[in-house]
Amino acid sequence: MKKVLVLEDEEAIRAFVVLNLTRAGYDIIEAGTGEQALELYEANPDIDIAVLDVMLPGISGIEVCKKLRATSQKIGIIMLTAKALENDKVEGLMSGADDYVAKPFSPMELIVRVDSLYRRVQLLKGESTATSSEITFGPFRLNTSGRMLTKNGEKIEITQVEYQILKYFMTNAGVAKTREDISSAVWGDAFTGDRHKIVDVNIRRLRMKLEDEPSNPVYIQTVWGFGYRWGDSR
Ligand code: CA
Repeated sequence: MKKVLVLEDEEAIRAFVVLNLTRAGYDIIEAGTGEQALELYEANPDIDIAVLDVMLPGISGIEVCKKLRATSQKIGIIMLTAKALENDKVEGLMSGADDYVAKPFSPMELIVRVDSLYRRVQLLKGESTATSSEITFGPFRLNTSGRMLTKNGEKIEITQVEYQILKYFMTNAGVAKTREDISSAVWGDAFTGDRHKIVDVNIRRLRMKLEDEPSNPVYIQTVWGFGYRWGDSR
C-alpha cells in the first residue's frame, strides 16, 4: 500500500488533491487540521508520504512537519505553499520537508513530485521491488533470509555482526548514524564494552571487504565528529 497523508483545511483543494492522488494509485488518509494529521499519523505509522498545507487554522503545517520529522526520518514530506510566500518554502525545507509544491498547482505537477518522493522513500527504506528478502544498494545485494552479501554478483564473506551492521546501514541509507546508534542496533543496549572501539573495528573490517579502495571509502562514509553514513559519495 502506498499510503499518503493529505493535510489541507480547504475542502475543495483537499478533495482535488485526494482525487488526483487516488487516481495515481495512492491510498489516502485525509486530515483537515494539523492536530488531526498528527493523530492520524500515530494511528498509521506506515504512512509513506505526507502532503502538508502550510496555512492552517490551528497548528501550522510547518509545526506538523517538524513533529513528523522528529518521529520519523523515513517519511517523505511535501509542503503545499502559497506561491507569493517564498519564506514558507525555506521554512518548510528547514523544518525537515523533502520538497514543496507552490499553489496553485496542476494535478500532474503534484503527482510527479509525490511519485518521485515515493521512490526516494522506498530506496531509503531499502525495499527492493524485486524480492522482499533482498536489500539492494548500488552493486550490493544483501539477502536477509540467507544472510548473504554479494557485490556485482560475487559473494563476499561476512560475519553475523558485519551482516547486522550492514543491514542497519542499508535500511538507513543516506542517514548519518552515531557509534551509539550502530552499537545499540547490533549489540543492544545491554552491551557494556567499549562501543566506539568495537564499531570502529568492525567498520574498518567491513571497508576492507566492501570498498574498492578501503583507505578511500565510498559506501561507508565517515561523518566527522558524528559517526558513519551508508551511501554512495561518488
Ligand atoms: Ca490552508
